[in-house]
Amino acid sequence: MINKYQSIRGMHDYLPKEIKHWNYVESIIKKILSSYGYHEIRLPIIEYTELFYRTIGNDTDVIEKEMYSFKDRSKHNVTLRPEGTVGCARANINNGLLNDQFQKLWYFGPMFRYERPQKGRYRQFYQMGLEVFGFKGPYIDIELILLISRCWKKLGIDKYLRLEINSIGSTKSREVYKKDLITFLENNQLLLDIDSKRRLYINPLRILDTKNKSIQLLLKKGPLLINYIDKNSMIYFKNICNFMLEMGIEYTINNNLIRGLDYYNDIVFEWKTNKLGTQDTICAGGRYDKLIETLGGPKTPAIGCAIGMERLILLIKEMSSSMMSCYIDIYLVVFNECNKLNIIKIGEILHNSFPMFKIIINYYNGSLKRQFQLANKYHSKVVLLLGPDEQEKNTIIIKDLRNKIQKEILQFNLVKELSYLLSQKNCDYL
Ligand code: ATP
Ligand code: MG
Repeated sequence: MINKYQSIRGMHDYLPKEIKHWNYVESIIKKILSSYGYHEIRLPIIEYTELFYRTIGNDTDVIEKEMYSFKDRSKHNVTLRPEGTVGCARANINNGLLNDQFQKLWYFGPMFRYERPQKGRYRQFYQMGLEVFGFKGPYIDIELILLISRCWKKLGIDKYLRLEINSIGSTKSREVYKKDLITFLENNQLLLDIDSKRRLYINPLRILDTKNKSIQLLLKKGPLLINYIDKNSMIYFKNICNFMLEMGIEYTINNNLIRGLDYYNDIVFEWKTNKLGTQDTICAGGRYDKLIETLGGPKTPAIGCAIGMERLILLIKEMSSSMMSCYIDIYLVVFNECNKLNIIKIGEILHNSFPMFKIIINYYNGSLKRQFQLANKYHSKVVLLLGPDEQEKNTIIIKDLRNKIQKEILQFNLVKELSYLLSQKNCDYL
């Protein structure tokens, strides 16, 4: 029977077998964030619509056609957040977190955009966002880039991602550039596609972001924003590039890199992959030194970025086996009906001794072969086996699945033996 109730188009259920990957990835990123002194902030998923109108830019795709906006029962215009930076900025102002203070924050949660759903592009999607308030660049910018690079390395996907950076200068210099860009594109009207023609007078900078190859070629002959940015922006950009070189961070300058939201200035960056097709940006961000003032807060320099979690997980699943490498630490095999309680007792001792480990008892009464198949399927590190013979002798069999070693030891020595075996690697998913 086909169930007539379906989830809304572009919005998905994340089932337990999927969540296991998410937990693993989130925990790695959260640990790294914490090690760099970032703190979590949790924000509402609905804000007053005006907040987004004021900041994101009226001519952007998000504002023009992607927002889920409606009137609440008090007739207030509200919107499901399409991104996290603006809400985070508002929360910092409202809660007085910015008066001569520095904030390094992260948030995780769903965002909503009415887009055309496809692989890597959904109407409800999750972002892990980082926002830093109160620090002038460029050192904090470099630290942010190093932190994100560390995440890619730890997740085993650094070789599939490339960092592109650009400087978009100040609003003032962008206005001058816009005029010249419009003139250039007007002279080449015939070569533009419908989307670019539409954007020409609304938001010409967005044309730089086009996926249309022939327009990309055309733009190569047009004016370059980088030639319009003022002296201070140029020095800033050069400093960033030099520091990146010094820190061994590989990057390419993409002079057509522009962000889809209007509040950015100077440095913008994206990590892209060529493994996922068109939806190729995994993480994007930049400096937004004027946003807080625009919202009525104190003058506060700021920088941030957001990781698109679905795309990140798609990439990890396709490219890295490390994700599954330590899902279960200790897997206890039930040998026959009579020793189930003994296995539970041993399990409890192990939970007491190794509170951070994932210890699973399989109560399924299948054959030994089937139980080992399951232990392997869930990428267990160690399997413990207690049969009638071992029970008789107060021993237990330990099978180290990673090193393919098996031995029988006294139950008395089990904790000591496991501490040794499992000490090399911590479990990242916890
Ligand atoms: P794109 O050009 O792919 O539409 P964007 O510039 O609109 O991205 P941002 O607002 O910078 O995206 O969001 C940061 C990240 O969030 C993106 O790089 C991407 O990984 C992810 N993201 C954005 N929109 C979606 C979506 N609709 N579905 C899934 N992930 C998304
Ligand atoms: Mg978009």
